[in-house]
Amino acid sequence: MNLKDYASKRKFEKTPEPEPGPEPRKDRLVFVVHKHAASRLHYDLRLEMEGVLKSWAVPKGPSLDPSVKRMAVHVEDHPLEYRDFEGVIPEGNYGAGSVIIWDRGVYRHPSTIDEEESERLLLEGFRKGDLKFVLAGRKLRGEFALVKMARDAKTWLLLKKKDRYATADPVLTENRSVQSQKTLLDVSADDREELPAETENRIRVREAMESALYLQAPEQSMPAGIQPMLATLTREPFDHPDWLFEVKWDGYRAIAEVREGAIALSSRNGLSLERKFPPVAEALRKLRFDAVLDGEVVVVDDQGRPDFQALQHYTGTGKGRLLYYVFDLLHFAGRDLTGLPLRRRKELLKQILASGPTIRVSDHVAGEGKLFFQVVKEKGLEGIVAKHRESTYEPGRRSRQWLKVKTQLTQEAVIGGFTEPGGGRNFFGSLVLGMFEGDTLVPVGSVGSGFSEKDLQHIRERLEPFIIRESPFGTDPETAGRAIWVRPELVCEVAFSGWTSDAVMRHPVFLRLREDKQALDVRKEEPMEQTGGSSGTAG
Ligand code: MN
Repeated sequence: MNLKDYASKRKFEKTPEPEPGPEPRKDRLVFVVHKHAASRLHYDLRLEMEGVLKSWAVPKGPSLDPSVKRMAVHVEDHPLEYRDFEGVIPEGNYGAGSVIIWDRGVYRHPSTIDEEESERLLLEGFRKGDLKFVLAGRKLRGEFALVKMARDAKTWLLLKKKDRYATADPVLTENRSVQSQKTLLDVSADDREELPAETENRIRVREAMESALYLQAPEQSMPAGIQPMLATLTREPFDHPDWLFEVKWDGYRAIAEVREGAIALSSRNGLSLERKFPPVAEALRKLRFDAVLDGEVVVVDDQGRPDFQALQHYTGTGKGRLLYYVFDLLHFAGRDLTGLPLRRRKELLKQILASGPTIRVSDHVAGEGKLFFQVVKEKGLEGIVAKHRESTYEPGRRSRQWLKVKTQLTQEAVIGGFTEPGGGRNFFGSLVLGMFEGDTLVPVGSVGSGFSEKDLQHIRERLEPFIIRESPFGTDPETAGRAIWVRPELVCEVAFSGWTSDAVMRHPVFLRLREDKQALDVRKEEPMEQTGGSSGTAG
């Protein structure tokens, strides 16, 4: 595989790669390692011999760890000029994609420092399929070997020999060009029009997998059915440099398990959401990595405000703009990230996931919770979630490292009955609400306002099959008019102004049914006592 192969694969009027020129004679033999984002990201090791660069594609990249063997596929010789090549090979050309000079330096045979003798021994090793060499690069140093495998003509193994440069520390985490200090993405961005989004995503994912951050997380097979971490309700927003503030999205909390091609999207009560929201499922299926994501499925109106009604009716109507706001990354490519600090998980999340038309990376502001809350309130959003930047992810736990502040007081409650409609109203008068304390359903008030005509009809229809003769309450609540009891299964959410001394909601206004919640999970939400930036209680 000589320079003719190199030239025949390329059209030099269409690629910035160098055309083979007259052979320059250098004193010292050079080597270069290119990092190349072609259809698959790989590294190319090139060793100068006989006036050309003998070349191997190393899919997983070189390692300084002697216990690691890396496959190296022998490819065509490249001209010596190629050692200086860095840039973007345009689409449609052989090896299309961006290239950086990941490492470069001089090299020799281990047993001599004489240049001519060295080259003779290197060539001999190359022909025998057992090539030993010493690199003096910026990243790669010390003795290596390339050993040809018997099984075919092209497959070799790249090994690091034991010497003082050997280390188990990862070396690919150093992801910049030794020539320009640019990363592959920097080089690609210089030339963006030529870079398809898919290529960019591939580079992002690969770089995330080579980052020290990822490599320090423990290995783990992908978990199924992770329960989301929950936030503790608090009364007031606060400012604090150690906290991040996100919008509290008004939709379905949803954990996505993404395995190349196969996905699952689950609500808090374990319902499968992928069939309810096909556009989200479809977008998740396009992701080219394995991960567990945490986020919220919402339907937004033209102003970008979440519309919970539209979300609930999405399956039937397909109306509204469906989005999956992702705010956390719990597992990625065979590693458990739940033990990493939140800011690190978000860093990785941003690296691997670019916001698209359906999947969005949910943004946050750092430090300034009060101002952010004000903005959120003015926009008519539900509230904010404050998260400590160092917090680990605690599945299924309601943590004080995550705090939510609502723009209005809301509460979920179980529907235990309804009253007959009066006046001009149809379907029902009010809903009789309760909450479970152990096995006992305890009354917490009735809600008679906030219903649209459509709500009245829909809720009545939903309650119809649950009608029972006996009251489900431990002690029957007082109701305005005769109550019709129902099996306490449906959950609704109301806004209210506070609790009375006998634990009944004051001025409740119906907001919506919560089909994603289970009756037994409904709890009285009371803001925890004041947290704040100045004290340590919030941390
Ligand atoms: Mn290549």
